[in-house]
Formats: sequence, structure tokens, C-alpha cells
Amino acid sequence: MKCVICRHGETQPGRVTVTLERGGATLVFKEVPAQVCENCGEAYIDEAVTKQLLEAAQAAQETGVQVEIRAFVAA
Ligand SMILES: [Zn+2]
Repeated sequence: MKCVICRHGETQPGRVTVTLERGGATLVFKEVPAQVCENCGEAYIDEAVTKQLLEAAQAAQETGVQVEIRAFVAA
């Protein structure tokens, strides 16, 4: 699809690193599948993937994690 941020690039399937902060927890997910703009690098992440990330962040926060880095694994 065409990038809505820069309006020039086309997005390509790729992998990105996503950082989420919830409460005192910082979660870093690597290898998250996304559509990445070839021009500006903006990453577009699926709603389903976003939901999984938020749920994982929530779970981590509840267990008292402060910083965690993990590879994203699709459910
Ligand atoms: Zn772009």
C-alpha cells in the first residue's frame, strides 16, 4: 500500500522492533511482522498483531516486569 505518512513510498513486508511502555514496564518486541515504508521507514502493524503486543505487555506489567526484550511469536 502507499504510505500515508510521507505519501511517496510503497510499503513492503518486513520486521520491526516495537517498544511498549505500560506503567513501569518497558517491553521490547523484536521481529514483529509489519508493512514498512521503503521511503520513510514508517511501520504499519496489523490490528491483530497490535492486540497481541498489548496483551503481552499487559501480562508482563502484571508480573512486575521492568524491562523485557523478547522476539515476537505470532499466536
Ligand atoms: Zn513513508
